[in-house]
Amino acid sequence: MNRGILIVISGPSGAGKGTVCKEVLRNAPSLCLSVSTTTRKPRSGEIEGVNYYFIGRPKFEEMIKEDQFLEWAEVYGNYYGTPKAFVENRLKEGKDVILEIDIQGAMKAREKFPDGVFIFIVPPSMDELEKRIKGRATETEEEIRLRFSKAFSELKYITKYDYIVVNDEVSKAAQKVLSIITAEKCKVERNLDLYLRLENVKEGN
Ligand code: 5GP
Repeated sequence: MNRGILIVISGPSGAGKGTVCKEVLRNAPSLCLSVSTTTRKPRSGEIEGVNYYFIGRPKFEEMIKEDQFLEWAEVYGNYYGTPKAFVENRLKEGKDVILEIDIQGAMKAREKFPDGVFIFIVPPSMDELEKRIKGRATETEEEIRLRFSKAFSELKYITKYDYIVVNDEVSKAAQKVLSIITAEKCKVERNLDLYLRLENVKEGN
């Protein structure tokens, strides 16, 4: 059985990574989404174990010491981390796993998973990005300002990724992500066992 592929969806705040991810998963239910752990307080409507595992800072710091995260980062004053055991087990089972994480975390994941697929989601324009960040209305003015200036400086990380997807329309962006995953699954280096099987059949005949 082939190992699953790690797909990392990342990009600046307000690019719409979360919405694109949801649409990707709706169209490809066999993909596995990794639920992160965070010290951020739940927003209204967010569900424990679905959106995040919500925990306190002492517990998170204990988990860092116990090496329980594949990657973790401090984003806007809160910790966020990807549970290592969950992701590694799914990959071993041959399942493809999606992480929706920030850029610092993606760079750490890249070191551990050089064969992962790193997709950078961008908004169609900076004006649109500002509108989206403001439109969320879940953050204070100060947080909005912070998110916008951070998003701007994060754009320079584009070159560290394998693919760029412009999120002008969620369904189109999701289709592009699905096409990328399909193409990656067809790569020769991910299918060497298939070649060996075909060779064996040929020799057996
Ligand atoms: P939010 O608080 O809006 O849900 O997320 C804030 C940022 O944290 C987003 O950019 C989101 O992608 C990122 N994030 C969510 N989970 C993780 C994680 O496990 N690791 C890292 N590094 N970033 C995460």
